[in-house]
Amino acid sequence: MAAESSLKKAPAYNLPTPEPESPSLTRPRQPYRFSTLCATVDSPDADHKDQHGSSSVPIYQTATFKGVGGQYDYTRSGNPTRSHLEHHIAKISSAAHAFAVSSGMAALDVITRLLKPGVEVIAGDDLYGGTNRLLTYLRTHMGVTVHHVDTTKAESVIPYLHPGKTAMVLLESPTNPLLKIVDIAGISALVKEKCEDAVVVVDNTMMSPYLQRPLEHGADIVYDSATKYLSGHHDLMAGVITCNRDDLAKEIAFIINSVGNALTPFDSFLLLRGTKTLAIRMDRQQSTSMLVAQMLSKLGFVTHYPGLPNHPGKDIHDRISDGYGAVLSFETGDKELSERIVAATRLWGISVSFGCVNSLISMPCVMSHASIDPATRAARGLPEDLIRLCVGIEDPADLLDDLRHALIEAGAITFAANNYIRIPNPISRAVEKLALGEARTARPQDHREWFVSAPGKVILFGEHAVVHGVTAVAASVDLRCYGLTSPRYDGKLSVHFADINNYKHEWDIDELPWDAVVPIPNGEVHPDTLDQRVVDAIKSRALPSEDKMPPKTHAAAIAFLYLYMMMTSHGSRPSFHFVCRSSLPIGAGLGSSASFSVCIATALLILHGRIELPTVPPPSREAIGSDPGHVHVSHGGRRAIPPDIAEETNRWAFVAEKVLHGNPSGVDNSVAVFGGALAYVRPGFGKRSGMDQIQGFKSLRFLLIDSKVPRDTKALVAGVARKKAAEPELVGKLLDAIQVISNEARRALADPEVPRNVLLSGLASLIDENHVHLASLGVSHPSLEVIRAKTAGAPYRLSTKLTGAGGGGCAVTLVPDDFPEEKLQSLIKSLEAAGYEPYVTAVGGSGLGILSPYDEITVDEDDDSPPLSPPMTPIGEGADGPALQHSIRRRFEKVSSTELSKWASTRGKWLYV
Ligand code: PLP
Repeated sequence: MAAESSLKKAPAYNLPTPEPESPSLTRPRQPYRFSTLCATVDSPDADHKDQHGSSSVPIYQTATFKGVGGQYDYTRSGNPTRSHLEHHIAKISSAAHAFAVSSGMAALDVITRLLKPGVEVIAGDDLYGGTNRLLTYLRTHMGVTVHHVDTTKAESVIPYLHPGKTAMVLLESPTNPLLKIVDIAGISALVKEKCEDAVVVVDNTMMSPYLQRPLEHGADIVYDSATKYLSGHHDLMAGVITCNRDDLAKEIAFIINSVGNALTPFDSFLLLRGTKTLAIRMDRQQSTSMLVAQMLSKLGFVTHYPGLPNHPGKDIHDRISDGYGAVLSFETGDKELSERIVAATRLWGISVSFGCVNSLISMPCVMSHASIDPATRAARGLPEDLIRLCVGIEDPADLLDDLRHALIEAGAITFAANNYIRIPNPISRAVEKLALGEARTARPQDHREWFVSAPGKVILFGEHAVVHGVTAVAASVDLRCYGLTSPRYDGKLSVHFADINNYKHEWDIDELPWDAVVPIPNGEVHPDTLDQRVVDAIKSRALPSEDKMPPKTHAAAIAFLYLYMMMTSHGSRPSFHFVCRSSLPIGAGLGSSASFSVCIATALLILHGRIELPTVPPPSREAIGSDPGHVHVSHGGRRAIPPDIAEETNRWAFVAEKVLHGNPSGVDNSVAVFGGALAYVRPGFGKRSGMDQIQGFKSLRFLLIDSKVPRDTKALVAGVARKKAAEPELVGKLLDAIQVISNEARRALADPEVPRNVLLSGLASLIDENHVHLASLGVSHPSLEVIRAKTAGAPYRLSTKLTGAGGGGCAVTLVPDDFPEEKLQSLIKSLEAAGYEPYVTAVGGSGLGILSPYDEITVDEDDDSPPLSPPMTPIGEGADGPALQHSIRRRFEKVSSTELSKWASTRGKWLYV
């Protein structure tokens, strides 16, 4: 970046590029670029070459020079080594004049000696501590008025620009240690316009002439602490002053000679040597700085570095400089934590100063800026916990590694879920807590009820064989899990899993184990593995122990809390009650856990504001009281859920499935979100694996029959594996046959040309065949065979197969479209009489549904069905929030499981189904 723009910005003071000695080679030459200028030291006196042709400028270690009338007589006034250095600094700084003095502070001392008693100085409010100290001295001893203003806002200098009085404006950009950006060009222009006699002085130490040359932007005098980047090795103290104005240069030369603080010959030599490598050092240092800044920022620390995209004033900095430098700072939220981090680093040396080849770490408030009193530090917004990093030229990987280790050792980050993640600290948690009151009630989604639902799934073909690489065909069933959220206004979170042991639990949100949680930032994806710390914390601190709760309830509550806490961002901790109902049999292999997972994921994504639904005005109390909202029933005009919402929900539902099952395939939650049917192939069999939606799947009627015989999926899967090992040929043939069935079913289901009756009879044969193969694999059960016999027998003649793991569980019976209703009812009765539980269901229907019972936006123009008044269930005035007089909660909790689907479908128009 620097090399490129040094092309654009040819230095004003530029020695002519030497012409080649052979005339035949004469051709136009570009001015040399910055690093070439740095590395090549020219003689200040073009006619005067070194008498011995030395490659390096000799150290004229002498106080006096012989003779009278020569160029040099006394080293305080002039010295050849220093002249070479000053000539070189002028060349790389776009300057006509340069002076080298004994330190950065000496440089400022020389410059401020241009001031006279009674004048005024405007200076930034976030300056280097030593600069503040000197300005205070001038104010208290020299009769100079100093105004400290926020120079990051150019216009803030205007009220202090007093023509005839303002003699100097002193700027630093970026500031140290907060890296605030000052518009040097803008302020210089303002100063010239209002107070043309005032000089603009810039401390350029943080950038060096390589990255910023303020003389090109209107500054009159620039100085650097050459102790830093210019020398680069922390082996000398020096300061340099550059300017273009001859009058100022003359005064400065006079002052230096008068006070006698010019740089010594030996230090001039060292500084000249260091400067030759300025560009190359800086390139390395700033590229590593960017990596460090990105790492810290990604971990969630407030990080100050102009190279970060959101750094305030970055656009200005990009305009006036050629790079971002190698100093950055970050906040940990806790001073003691910062002290531990600083103490735990090994490669990063604890030291004041910056600009050297070694990396340094410090806490400005207790080190470099300790001379500023704490009240002033606080007033200037300098955080006590701030850590400053000055990046050197070591291997970037070592530096990152050392810093990460120090952060871990100090307890600032931890390694979890294959990632380094920040451990929230008590102070930032307290601040977050303060913001909670706001966050809890601020958003419209918090004041309404949300009704969500997701279907279960049935495996139509390929169960068990899928474990061995065969394609499985899974489809949604219209038995669903439903979730309703109702707002609370008391800082509590409660759940009622009505169909899982009628479990109820309430938590005080602030009492949840937040210290274990590093939430996933909004927009980021949860890592592949669960954060076990959070799971353990929930188990041990938010719930009764496993043996005191039914296992399914325990698992459901963990999944709910895990998602609730991991989704929290920016202090959002919504307070609400969640009721869950299911028309799906739980634990019968019909994907009830996945549809539960999709329901909690959706509800939590809405309430955490992580998915954007069409905006609807929050229901005002008046509106709720008088007109419950134009809630319409609609059975047509389904709106497809936007893909980004579907995918985000599916990702979080998969996380919940992992909490519930450890290692789910992802099929069940995908069916629950997307509906329809999909084909799934497990990875690891050398075939194309993954999930494919079966496009154009036509909804089919099935009888789902729960045998009520509990199954042990793991044992059944293990049984097939044993059989495969014992009889590889037989099992291989069965698996191949099932693959053919799956392929055939998949092709037929997606083919729009296949007539419906052909499709149904074809599927019926495939169902029978598949069941026979499953029975040969040993996964059927006498109860399933009874069900099969009953449905296949006269007068029904229907095809049935086991679904899922078998060994009990459920069977599916295909019901043709023209199958008479009385026959179906009689079959149902006979199955019920035998102790089975049949459900008439459609397969391949809609996926995730989201409904807010009060939304007006869902009114369909050509929907002429009569408006429905939602149940007016007064639940009374909430303690400190509006009461939802037409809440559907009570009815939802009470409606029978068999009525549930019908009841839900008339609650209003589903926003998405
Ligand atoms: N300016 C800035 C921004 C500095 O950081 C420093 C020293 O840290 C100085 C000036 C003073 O330089 P020196 O220590 O060389 O006198």
